[in-house]
Amino acid sequence: MNARSIDGREIVLKPEALDDLRKRLRGRVLEPTDAGYDDSRTVWNAMIDRRPAAIAQCIGAADVVACVQFARQHDLLLCVKCGGHNIAGLATADGALMLDLSHMRGAWVDAQNRIVHAQGGCLLGDVDRETQLHGLAAVLGFVSLTGITGLTLGGGMGYLTRRWGWTVDSVAGMDIVTADGSLVRANDRENADLFWGLRGGGGNFGVVTGVDYELFPVGPEIVGGVVAWPASEAQQVLELYREMAEESPSELTLVALLRPAPPAPWLPKEWHGNPIVGLLACYSGPIAEGERLVAPIKSLGKPIGDVLMRRPYAQMQSLLDATQPKGRRYYWKSEYLPRIDSGLCEKAIANAAKIPSPHSAVVLFQIDGALNKLAADHSPVGNRDARYLLNITSSWENASQDDVNIAWARDAWNDMKSFSTGGNYINFLTEDESPERVRAALGINIGRLADVKAHWDPQNFFRTNRNISPAPVQQRPN
Ligand SMILES: Cc1cc2nc3c(=O)[nH]c(=O)nc-3n(C[C@H](O)[C@H](O)[C@H](O)COP(=O)(O)OP(=O)(O)OC[C@H]3O[C@@H](n4cnc5c(N)ncnc54)[C@H](O)[C@@H]3O)c2cc1C
Repeated sequence: MNARSIDGREIVLKPEALDDLRKRLRGRVLEPTDAGYDDSRTVWNAMIDRRPAAIAQCIGAADVVACVQFARQHDLLLCVKCGGHNIAGLATADGALMLDLSHMRGAWVDAQNRIVHAQGGCLLGDVDRETQLHGLAAVLGFVSLTGITGLTLGGGMGYLTRRWGWTVDSVAGMDIVTADGSLVRANDRENADLFWGLRGGGGNFGVVTGVDYELFPVGPEIVGGVVAWPASEAQQVLELYREMAEESPSELTLVALLRPAPPAPWLPKEWHGNPIVGLLACYSGPIAEGERLVAPIKSLGKPIGDVLMRRPYAQMQSLLDATQPKGRRYYWKSEYLPRIDSGLCEKAIANAAKIPSPHSAVVLFQIDGALNKLAADHSPVGNRDARYLLNITSSWENASQDDVNIAWARDAWNDMKSFSTGGNYINFLTEDESPERVRAALGINIGRLADVKAHWDPQNFFRTNRNISPAPVQQRPN
């Protein structure tokens, strides 16, 4: 079978070699003709359509070790898939051996020490489900189907970020299979340089088989949900967003979104597809205080839908899932913002009015608080000056509509990028982003990251990622 070497050359992988791999693993090895290959190889963004030479569905760290050793032995390109949510499709590569970790989704809670150990293939919802049994939560993201490991290796942010920082700020340790095929523990005491690099340096250092997250008391009920108004109300809604976001305690996170109304049951049918503005809120402190704090949102103007209420935290964590299904085409642009300027709001409204698809949006996430209190080099996620995140999310169904939808996102971004801190979220970078954008995302930490890479992966074996190797990076095969 044809495959790719780690530096992009075509190589031949003999059937005996794959048989040998099968013998070394407890999980399945899939070839392109096997049932399940397509399901396993595809990722969330349908713009990405790559065909690994083979897929190893690992069921534990020992399988991962065997795969890394096998790939080294055969000079085979390797890629790693957790949730497959990366918009640039970094989890998959043509001709590679793909490690599909979707069978490694166990999460074990130590409630007394407030730690969860989650396997490297968990989705966010897997971890929330186990931790919420104990009224605890890790700092994870806004969509429950996202993979924990890709999110964490790039930094991570969600409704609890204002209280406890980037996801990586409360990671206690990781287990990782490194380039020499050994299983290594990384935390503050063991392999501290590697641990530093893992907290924002992407998949550059190896295959993470497990993550330990510190847990915090959250829920099981919170005050959360969304209120929507006609887009004609956007100016006053964004003004309220700006005022409340500046003053509110870190228990409250607000997200503003401008988009065509989705066909959600809580929105009147006649509004579906028409432009709306929404405010998403999550208050994770005492319920009565949350109800008091969100009252100005609920009483603003004449909403067309209001599902901002007391609800389970786990439900809040999956509220946006239906708006981001696997299999659509996606193209994003993001920038961190130091504040919400009135000029930015005007531009957000104007650009949202030009959205060419029913699924696209201009979104403003509030993230300020704990993350701003640590030093810029605390971990490579950096961006400690970020207080908001602008995400221009273009999403559509058919390839024939690619140009118009990509052009909309790029134009909107060009119109609004002057409001940026200069940094952007590495986990939101699309396939076509330049190395300069990766450098902007990693900021001052890139030099130290390259040193850690040179120590732990001098041959740049792990390269299907936002690569920070000091050695020249080979073009990734598409
Ligand atoms: C709908 C949607 C919502 C999102 N919401 C948020 C959010 O709220 N907050 C946030 O911070 N981000 C969010 N993101 C961005 C998300 O963090 C990134 O897309 C992230 O890469 C997804 O992780 P994954 O494991 O699903 O990715 P994958 O596509 O599986 O992998 C992404 C990268 O991580 C590497 N990787 C994955 N698993 C491992 C592993 N075990 N060991 C080593 N490397 C590994 C892959 O090789 C690849 O380079 C969202 C993305 C989507 C599509």
